[in-house]
Amino acid sequence: MKLLLMISALCQVVFISCTSNNNNVLNTSKSLKNSTMNTPVTKTEEEWKKELTEEQYYVIRMKGTDRPYTGKYDQHWDSGTYECAACGAELFTSDTKFDAGCGWPSFYEALDKTKIIEKKDFSHGMVRIEVMCANCGGHLGHVFDDGPKDKTGLRYCINSTSINFHKQDSTK
Ligand SMILES: [Zn+2]
Repeated sequence: MKLLLMISALCQVVFISCTSNNNNVLNTSKSLKNSTMNTPVTKTEEEWKKELTEEQYYVIRMKGTDRPYTGKYDQHWDSGTYECAACGAELFTSDTKFDAGCGWPSFYEALDKTKIIEKKDFSHGMVRIEVMCANCGGHLGHVFDDGPKDKTGLRYCINSTSINFHKQDSTK
């Protein structure tokens, strides 16, 4: 039994490294095709191109990344919610935002686990977990396990371009 487990674990490792190698050569348009998912909001790339700014389209649909320390929400500490810039779904709150010093807005938790999709990403010779909006499939960023240990231990590293901030209504 133990041997069987070891063999299956070994196969998994071999499989992962193979997949990772294959994916290293994927270009952006190919990985975009692979990521097509069934989400409530489905639009053609033409429609997205019309609706989003050039920068938003690059980050959200082409899975681009904001340059570090340049995003409008990296050092933004007002109270409120952060919504998907493409479809408006509420994704994160300021309560879980922390300064990771990495150059991108960081959260230790999503507003609701069902609001986001996490998927293994083998691009750029790395194995990372990509974070996407569950409502429209838009690329948000990546999640790493070096977040605050007294919270979830996770760091959702999100592109400012992928989100819009809505200030909390103080009259409520
Ligand atoms: Zn969305």
